[in-house]
Amino acid sequence: MKEIYPWNLEAWRNLHEMRAHLPNALLIKGASGIGKLDMALNFTQSLLCEAPTKDGLPCGECNSCHWFDLDTHPDFRLVQPDSLAVLDDNAEKESGKKPSREISVDQIRDLANFANLSSHLGGYRVILIHPAESMNKNSANAVLKTLEEPTEKLLFILVTHKPQQLLPTILSRCLSFTVNTPNFDSGSAWLKQQGVTDPELFLAQAGFAPLQARHLAEDEVGSVERNILLSTIQRPAQMDALLLAEKLQRSAPVLVIQCLQQWCYDLASAKLTGQVRYFPAQTDLLKQLSSNISYLRLLGYQSELLTAKREAFHPLNPKLQFESIFLAYRQMFTSSLA
Ligand SMILES: [Zn+2]
Repeated sequence: MKEIYPWNLEAWRNLHEMRAHLPNALLIKGASGIGKLDMALNFTQSLLCEAPTKDGLPCGECNSCHWFDLDTHPDFRLVQPDSLAVLDDNAEKESGKKPSREISVDQIRDLANFANLSSHLGGYRVILIHPAESMNKNSANAVLKTLEEPTEKLLFILVTHKPQQLLPTILSRCLSFTVNTPNFDSGSAWLKQQGVTDPELFLAQAGFAPLQARHLAEDEVGSVERNILLSTIQRPAQMDALLLAEKLQRSAPVLVIQCLQQWCYDLASAKLTGQVRYFPAQTDLLKQLSSNISYLRLLGYQSELLTAKREAFHPLNPKLQFESIFLAYRQMFTSSLA
């Protein structure tokens, strides 16, 4: 089974209590990077387990648990975009296609047989959709159709970071279960246990989601690139936007833009309130930089970043995209630097 993170213990207990009267569809929602998927997987394994403990944990010993751990359980289907599934590298190279970020209608149609068969072990069958917001219009409608005609002992679990992007008709057919973002102390205590040095820094940069923070801390290439980006934008007067774009041209556009978004969020926040969220160690610098730019220009730039982020999933040329957003960043400061 997966780890039950310390900040999710209470949510786990509440989820366990729902076993007595399970709905046909459960919607597990909360911020990204706090362990919702792992919790949903543990819950499913426990539901299928032949001898769960009294705390609702899967036994880890029975046939069902073994199948589950090997990803071969006949009564369970995990549906997620190809981009999240562990794909065979060669298959990807041969097809020459980038794995999709959407859950397709074919993936949902493939479930039809599974949904109509009876359970192999006589218990529940579970379909876990993650993240549910990656269903496109067609796949969402196909799921809706199945939800409208519930089958006995067939449980849908939808895990989502963005419930507002789901069809209202789907939402209304799910029992909603919220997982809260942990408080700062329990998140940073866990990260420390994981051997992360400077847990507060990573936690803040990850929007207080501990798993996301661990991911940032472990991503060495990403953190080198992040440092290049941050050390450059901290000195806009000396900034060479084109050189920076060249240095970062192999970085993931989404991560670069996200980092810039956080930096600009802090610039705006420092200007308006004197407080920052993501880069607490740079508070003084952020205050000083933000005093040199107009709030309106900063707002304009933030909306530019938002557009860039939408395009970043399919960038035609990342280097060009970077050049344009770095030049625009530099431009924000020009009037005061001139
Ligand atoms: Zn078991």
